[in-house]
Amino acid sequence: MGVFNALAFDEHEHLVFGCDHDTGLRAIIAVHDTTLGPAVGGCRMYPYGSDEEALDDVLRLSRGMTYKSALAGLPLGGGKSVIIGNPATDKSPALFQAMGRFVDSLGGRYVAAEDSGTSVADLHLMAAATDHVTGIGTTEHGGDPSPNTALGVFVAIKAALSHRLGGDELKGIRVAVQGLGHVGFHLASLLRGEGARVLAADINEGNLERAVQELGVEPVSQDEILFADVDVLAPCALGGALNSETIPRLRAGIVAGAANNQLREPGDGARLVDRGILYCPDFLINAGGIIDVHYQRMGLDRADLTTHIEGIGDRLLEVLRRADGCHSPTQSIAEALARELLNHRSRVGADKRLVA
Ligand code: NAD
Repeated sequence: MGVFNALAFDEHEHLVFGCDHDTGLRAIIAVHDTTLGPAVGGCRMYPYGSDEEALDDVLRLSRGMTYKSALAGLPLGGGKSVIIGNPATDKSPALFQAMGRFVDSLGGRYVAAEDSGTSVADLHLMAAATDHVTGIGTTEHGGDPSPNTALGVFVAIKAALSHRLGGDELKGIRVAVQGLGHVGFHLASLLRGEGARVLAADINEGNLERAVQELGVEPVSQDEILFADVDVLAPCALGGALNSETIPRLRAGIVAGAANNQLREPGDGARLVDRGILYCPDFLINAGGIIDVHYQRMGLDRADLTTHIEGIGDRLLEVLRRADGCHSPTQSIAEALARELLNHRSRVGADKRLVA
């Protein structure tokens, strides 16, 4: 398996493989960049089909975290971890304690948070073995950051609508939500709250039924949701929803969702441009959760949190305006902007250190 020359490797600072015989833990921690601070990122649990698949996922997610935190104006680097296993059948307290010891072995360069397949309860188990876990606060608004991830995506949808249609009114707007988990459910709730029509699908029937009953979303089959006749498509399940097979069949004019790595391969950004579809880069608009986690971790005033998350809308508009002028994929423009911010802030930091 090639690692250093893999496209997703992109000069990661650390890539560590962990194995624990007693608990069956097999995990990877990737630290992409710590220029701006410790690499804070989710710990995902997923039954990957192969080690290569797990490696590619953790590298892409980790790099995305570097860009996400830079664009969100956070003093954090980018990192991520994955546990290879089925969250429905393979979890045990001992497994998460072993994962905690693995995280601890990096001495704080990587700080773990909740992600797909892991819960706040799992992170509490990890925290028994390491201090380098975050997003497990028990204050009124502490703990699960997913509602704030949903808020960031919601703000982004409104910004994209105003960019494309000249107004952000949601009444009469149709949105297709793929995945009604921690983020998708809250997003659907916010959208319904402002009068949008929400079509939704989930492979978990219980999650779909709950959203139908409690929010009045209209159920759609999981095979059709990406191709629904809507204004906005919000992928909120797993990555890779946008690819050479699905993009030609999309009917939405705007794609804005929470899922990480929505583009399966780099060329998918250009495919969306060719179809005239306005794509809101995932790592830019799903930053509400990491912003929340940062506020929890540093004990910052939560009164400022909503304003910080609403800044996602302005950052997105900056990217969309740049994209208007040059016909490049929004993903590439957002990545370039993140690198600009990273370079600028590391230069400012170096200057300050020189003066000191
Ligand atoms: P989750 O596991 O709680 O929810 C995902 C939902 O998608 C589940 O209900 C699952 O049944 C459903 N699903 C999976 N495959 C599907 C398919 N093919 N069709 C329809 N539904 C499907 O995860 P989450 O925390 O809501 O996160 C969703 C996405 O957003 C993930 O990609 C995650 O990495 C990303 N994300 C989450 C956060 C956060 O704060 N939770 C932050 C940033 C990014």
